[in-house]
Amino acid sequence: MSDEIKRGFTTAILHSDRDAAVEHGALHKPLHLSVAYGYRDARELAAVFQGRAPGYAYGRQGNPTSAALEAKVTAMEGGVGTVTFATGMAAIGAIMLALFKAGDHIVSSQFVFGNTSSLLLTLEAHGHPVTFVDATDVAAVEAALTPATRVVFVETIANPRVQVADLKRIGDLCRARGILYVVDNTMTSPWLFRPRDVGAGLVVNALTKYIGGHGNALAGAITDTGAFDWTAFPNIADAYKGQPPRNWGLQQLRKKGLRDWGGTLAAEQAHHIAVGAETLALRMDRICANALALAQWLQQQPQVRTVYYPGLATHPQHALASELFRGFGGLLSFELADGLDPFDFLNRLKVVVLSSNLGDNRTLAIPVAHTIYHEMGAERRAAMGIADSLIRISVGIEDRDDLLGDFGQALA
Ligand SMILES: *Cc1c(COP(=O)(O)O)cnc(C)c1O
Repeated sequence: MSDEIKRGFTTAILHSDRDAAVEHGALHKPLHLSVAYGYRDARELAAVFQGRAPGYAYGRQGNPTSAALEAKVTAMEGGVGTVTFATGMAAIGAIMLALFKAGDHIVSSQFVFGNTSSLLLTLEAHGHPVTFVDATDVAAVEAALTPATRVVFVETIANPRVQVADLKRIGDLCRARGILYVVDNTMTSPWLFRPRDVGAGLVVNALTKYIGGHGNALAGAITDTGAFDWTAFPNIADAYKGQPPRNWGLQQLRKKGLRDWGGTLAAEQAHHIAVGAETLALRMDRICANALALAQWLQQQPQVRTVYYPGLATHPQHALASELFRGFGGLLSFELADGLDPFDFLNRLKVVVLSSNLGDNRTLAIPVAHTIYHEMGAERRAAMGIADSLIRISVGIEDRDDLLGDFGQALA
């Protein structure tokens, strides 16, 4: 792996399978569809079960195809290991369910993916106190910490209002207090940002989004960066302490998170994501350039009241985002001027697709208050800065003039 990290980002992904010596010289890891794995030696079977020897026991805990993808995500994030899941939500759920006990306090950014916010509210009902804080302000995070706080959870660029968390200072705070710091890197992807650099212990990626990139497979991943000292974490079961401490967290996530909860990534999906990942850097550069051009153009239109994009000088965390990220990402949102109906505007778009996904190669638009954030109600929407007229755009890789032209005709 250290070999791969020394290579450039894209070279490492492209040659990852070949370096692991795939049979017949195949350039892609094959799809391993077997549910079970047979052993000639019962002792070896037992060693695999106990985590003392490498190998596969039963398909719910992973397969060789998803393992090849895990190696790529580990290389991209510069981590020590990765566990993949069927979806990004399965990955986040696994962290919450496999690592925390009733009474463990969770501090989360209040600006998080809607379904993550919903999951955290469910956990509250299961006996985990949760405090939602303004993660753009490290003082708000610090004020929320209690002796029972086990984790601080943030996203890099939040969806849909694109607030940027104070990632480095929160990392310093967590390190000083010995608290696990989890960063959802989905919106930036490891090409724009590596949470390891700000002290995150675990990194979440919804592979469904930019890493897969083509909108044709769901998947999620948790990467351990090696930054967190698991010997100081009270919830690791003795059964998982046989290995070096750097593996304890992932071992418990694979066993309790994957084996017990069963959100396993299937081989076909892992293959789709791995193929998509080969062009992550190329797509992301194009997406960032398109998004910046669109945000700047929208800002000049009289029919547009406000544009939210970290690449604009008017964004409150623009300087921070410039320091932390290679680019400003593919998500922007905006509000139309008073009197203009967002639904009518959206209906006039011809190239842009009205859809809820993000990170697709195609540009997607959605009125978020009426769809993704409808269920949570007006009060929570207001706390997240989501106006009724807010339109979210996930910018794709189309030719820039086609994109600007489509927005131009729909606004006219
Ligand atoms: C989409 C998304 C998720 C969940 O991923 P799924 O694969 O759809 O379950 C988690 N976090 C963020 C930031 C996302 O955008």
